[in-house]
Amino acid sequence: MQTINALEKQIANIKNQLLNLGDMHPGSLTKQFNICGNPNCRCKDPDDPQKHGPYYNLSFVLKGKSTSRFIRSEYASEIKKQVANYKKFKSLIEDWKTAAAELAKLKIDMMKMQEKKSAKQKMAKDQK
Ligand SMILES: [Zn+2]
Repeated sequence: MQTINALEKQIANIKNQLLNLGDMHPGSLTKQFNICGNPNCRCKDPDDPQKHGPYYNLSFVLKGKSTSRFIRSEYASEIKKQVANYKKFKSLIEDWKTAAAELAKLKIDMMKMQEKKSAKQKMAKDQK
């Protein structure tokens, strides 16, 4: 079990990481190669088919709606970074949630213990 101090430090660290998170984008980026409609195209070559692409597709859910967006290959590496940042963001939020729940529990336990202690001290005083 972690101490209040350690949890507070962990949460401060999470907040700091969130502050320093760069641009982000939800969803996932997939790389695709396509075949076109032209029967004589290189992508239909029976011996050595060379499909078109790569094409990048960014799919994500916003306000409950699935969306997908075509990404030009020159932007793919930037979007890849943003998607990774979003994953990091989500995992930091999960960590914060977990630490926050544990911290709240420890603080309440501590308050209960202090109440018991002061009740005992009060009883000891009253008996004198
Ligand atoms: Zn083709």
